[in-house]
Amino acid sequence: MTCKSTTHDYDYLIVSTGSQTNFRDNQSAIENAFEFKNITDAIDIKYLIIEYLEKASQMTDPAEKKKTPVILYHRRGGITGVELATEINDFIKAKLRKEYNTIRQDEYDITIFEYYKTILPSIDESQAVKAQDIVSKSGITLINNASVQDISKTCVSYCVNDETFTKDSTITVWTAGVMGGQEHLQSISENSAPPDKRLFINHSLTPENFDKDNIFVIGDSCAYKHKENILPPVAPPLAMQQGIMAVINIMRKIDGKEPKEFSYFHFGYLVSLGKNNSVVNLFGFKMRGRFAYYVWKMLYLYKVGMFKKQIAVFFDWIMTAWFGNESVLIIDQPTRKRSSKQE
Ligand SMILES: Cc1cc2nc3c(=O)[nH]c(=O)nc-3n(C[C@H](O)[C@H](O)[C@H](O)COP(=O)(O)OP(=O)(O)OC[C@H]3O[C@@H](n4cnc5c(N)ncnc54)[C@H](O)[C@@H]3O)c2cc1C
Repeated sequence: MTCKSTTHDYDYLIVSTGSQTNFRDNQSAIENAFEFKNITDAIDIKYLIIEYLEKASQMTDPAEKKKTPVILYHRRGGITGVELATEINDFIKAKLRKEYNTIRQDEYDITIFEYYKTILPSIDESQAVKAQDIVSKSGITLINNASVQDISKTCVSYCVNDETFTKDSTITVWTAGVMGGQEHLQSISENSAPPDKRLFINHSLTPENFDKDNIFVIGDSCAYKHKENILPPVAPPLAMQQGIMAVINIMRKIDGKEPKEFSYFHFGYLVSLGKNNSVVNLFGFKMRGRFAYYVWKMLYLYKVGMFKKQIAVFFDWIMTAWFGNESVLIIDQPTRKRSSKQE
């Protein structure tokens, strides 16, 4: 295996190199939309919002103010865009109440462009319909059956039922999925036929149509079929369950035993819809609202894993609940990727 500066021999290799944002070949999105894939992206978006609040709070012309504060997302099927939009909505609402009271609550707009007829099409339909209602009532604009066509620095154009519309936007975040397709995946095998360029794997987690059985591809990098559907790139089905099975299979091979077949177990899903609201399905038991929110929080804490971190996260939540989110802005931090998309 060749790395940046060295090469490594291996007996067994687990490839779990994740995914990258799937801009679906939309050049305008590549150039002008923000990604939301890692912590740096999250910090960038938070800074942009604080900058927008600063600017808007100093504007006196209502027309100008109204033009600036639009924040938009385009998403397609996944949970990330909805969770991000609801978090930002809560963040802005709290900031307007406490620090930017020259901006009225109706003077900013968060919009989710959804490709399907409701948001969250990957969860149970009854929960998705309820989630649509909750998100809409929280003040977020939902545009369903929308296909985003073009994103410029100041607006988004989109189609609904073959009719084209545009909407002003200052910050557009693209949360419309992820893909594999990195060079090292292609060098393992050319079988990346799924639209999102992940590698098809078989039940022992090795790539399909591949002559070696000592390379395992797991997590977001792989396309794994379960009951004819390719499982979505989220942690519980792929990265976590497959990680355990890949290690078991390596141990079995070392002991001269046949590999075991991976069988996926569906626990359900957890979707946060902002403060005190969630939709949850745990082992088929569906919940929503405040109770679901606390279940979501508890499970999240459990999944953090390390006791020390669990305590830190728990107290961080308590502090945020009592004192609100930090809105400290460090200007011109060198790691920020946003400058090219904003200028
Ligand atoms: C904003 C966001 C929110 C999410 N929320 C949830 C959620 O609530 N619940 C959930 O289940 N899932 C969620 N997901 C999805 C979840 O994060 C992924 O499914 C999971 O992290 C995939 O794990 P992985 O190990 O396959 O890849 P990753 O966790 O992405 O890890 C891949 C690692 O490989 C490294 N790497 C990449 N290329 C190379 C290379 N060439 N050489 C060496 N190293 C490399 C990367 O730097 C990274 O450290 C979310 C994803 C995003 C982006």
